Amino acid sequence: MLNLVSSIRENYQYALDQIASAARKSSLDPEQVRLVVVTKSQPLEVIQAAIEAGVHILGENYPEEAVTKIEALAGQTGVEWHMIGHVQSRKARLVADHFALLHSLDSLKLAKRLDRFAAEAGHVLPVLLQFNVGGEASKAGWEASDESHWDALLPDVSSILDLPNLRVQGLMTMPPLGTDPEDSRRYFQRLRQLRDRFTSQFPQADWHELSMGTSADYPVAVEEGATLVRVGTAIVGGRNYSHPG
Ligand SMILES: *Cc1c(COP(=O)(O)O)cnc(C)c1O
Repeated sequence: MLNLVSSIRENYQYALDQIASAARKSSLDPEQVRLVVVTKSQPLEVIQAAIEAGVHILGENYPEEAVTKIEALAGQTGVEWHMIGHVQSRKARLVADHFALLHSLDSLKLAKRLDRFAAEAGHVLPVLLQFNVGGEASKAGWEASDESHWDALLPDVSSILDLPNLRVQGLMTMPPLGTDPEDSRRYFQRLRQLRDRFTSQFPQADWHELSMGTSADYPVAVEEGATLVRVGTAIVGGRNYSHPG
């Protein structure tokens, strides 16, 4: 356990340092970037060690797995849980009830369900809208790889902004896995350009968050304006992929 805590602490600190130097490289404020440590498929001991190592924000992909962990660690203070994976409609209530931020809102239908459950729970759920800027058929998110189709996104975005129990705070993407961190740069730039488009189209809304970058490419994401990076394996090590989905 002690070894686990000290290795996670070292990796976490290293990632924070990388974030700070990437931000400075682009004349951005490192304080504006939050590091989400992704603990999907990791056992409770790893999460406990991460918290002990100073991690504040935990990212999970599967609502049921996450809620089991959240309940087991309910005594922990100062920890914030983010949902970063695709959410099936029937899991919407779990997400509305248990998370501080949903990064991966990817349809109007899901938005309406989340809005209803958040209303029933008596709170407002902060969300980011997920866009597929790389054009891969397998990726979740509104298709946004081709700029000429961006206008087609506006009706859904407008409807989501009208939902009283969701609070949109920005955008998220998961680009194609490249062989080099630089391969991701153009996708991060595209997400930022899409954010700029929404900012001019819907200036009354809040678009300040850009959730982009993983272990593979988070320094590049920060250089391109990420305010949330989602880093798993580089901090907490490899996962066992036997999750049922
Ligand atoms: C798993 C995952 C991450 C973290 O990936 P690592 O390669 O472990 O850093 C980030 N974002 C999403 C959406 C993920 O599913």
